[in-house]
Amino acid sequence: MSIDKVAVVGGGIVGTACAYFLAREGKRVTLFEETALAHGASGRNPGFVWLHTRNPGFGREVSLASRALYDQLVEDLPLDFEFRPSGGIIFYTTEEQGAIVREFVETVQADGYPMEHIDGAEVRRMVEPIREDVLGASFCPADACINTPLLVRSFAEGARQAGAEIREGVGVTRLIEEGGRVVGVETSEGRFEADAVVLGAGAWARKLADTVGIQLAVGGERLQVAATVPVPEIRVEPLVYGPLVTKQYRLFRDLPSWDAAHFTEPYEDEANIEVLELISQRRNGEILMGCAMDYPDDIDLRPTVEGLARSLQSIVQDFPGLRGVAVDRVWAGILPFTSDTAPIIDEPIPGLFLGSGHVYGNAAGPMTGRLITQLIMEQEPEIALDEVRFDRVLEMPGAGVAVRW
Ligand SMILES: Cc1cc2nc3c(=O)[nH]c(=O)nc-3n(C[C@H](O)[C@H](O)[C@H](O)COP(=O)(O)OP(=O)(O)OC[C@H]3O[C@@H](n4cnc5c(N)ncnc54)[C@H](O)[C@@H]3O)c2cc1C
Repeated sequence: MSIDKVAVVGGGIVGTACAYFLAREGKRVTLFEETALAHGASGRNPGFVWLHTRNPGFGREVSLASRALYDQLVEDLPLDFEFRPSGGIIFYTTEEQGAIVREFVETVQADGYPMEHIDGAEVRRMVEPIREDVLGASFCPADACINTPLLVRSFAEGARQAGAEIREGVGVTRLIEEGGRVVGVETSEGRFEADAVVLGAGAWARKLADTVGIQLAVGGERLQVAATVPVPEIRVEPLVYGPLVTKQYRLFRDLPSWDAAHFTEPYEDEANIEVLELISQRRNGEILMGCAMDYPDDIDLRPTVEGLARSLQSIVQDFPGLRGVAVDRVWAGILPFTSDTAPIIDEPIPGLFLGSGHVYGNAAGPMTGRLITQLIMEQEPEIALDEVRFDRVLEMPGAGVAVRW
């Protein structure tokens, strides 16, 4: 069946990218966003377009393709989204950590992936507030920084200019299936019929998929962030990850020299919270700092005292130059995830297109928009989708159960 009219659910990076690419192909697109554009994870993340630790296979392929696509989006999208191709680092502070980071760099380089090792002096030059005794870092020149909420608004505006209707404040209450096909959505403002529905509702997608009997193996992980006031006099050029993040990534855990004992801090164990230690700087100079990670029972967008304390404890320890800087605001967001960290991009029943479970939406989200557009137009997707099929084996995530990427 040829698809003309499409309903897109969710105004995050995935939903707006889908709306943008579909509208540019001449499809009649209506996007429904329950709250406001970028209300979800896309509006709350610190802007890492992070290729550094992407697993080989779909993860790397989609991230490299999105990274190339960003160069085009900078030209094409109507609003500036502060794209800054200044790379990313994972720094280390002990010789034991350094041996593992060096092995990581060599392994990834051997695969032909862009990666370098830089010394402590170079790290201090790029990241002014960092501790004096930093020893070195892995540096991926392909990593880039964006202002994600601005990118979402820019995709939405681009879609609007191509003819899409963007309906903020209109929630989808259920998907409508008739005769084995999804034929529209029920919204807070009534029924909306469409030839196809794109489900891009982030961590909320699971409940909506349930309404047509689709069990989506997508969990929600809460990450907490604090933002400083603008401090343009302090320069943080690349995206910055601390050493503890390594245990989150399979590319590190699979190294022969890997030893998790070198990548723990008492403040993680005491709280039963792990910290994805990171900082990034926006164009106005504000510095985003994070991120404690936990797994609440339901979608809870509030930060906790303990989560913020653990996040900031790592910042105080590793970035003495930020200790005196005023905090402007704090927040949390829910990152959607699958047990194998790859998203789900598929049409599990006719008329329903899933763009769900994005762990690294800044890297994969723009390409998801293109891939779903290609599926809807019955074209061969430019990246093979075998690894991101709905019916692959995935664990159903449970509350409180930690995941690894
Ligand atoms: C704090 C934090 C830091 C992160 N850091 C990074 C990072 O640096 N780099 C990276 O690549 N990824 C990062 N992530 C993950 C990234 O944010 C996600 O992969 C990405 O935003 C997912 O996009 P999405 O469009 O699928 O979902 P979302 O951005 O969550 O959008 C879903 C939208 O659907 C709307 N919605 C929900 N229910 C309904 C309904 N019933 N009807 C209509 N609309 C509905 C919501 O309001 C929301 O706006 C981070 C996540 C968090 C929380």
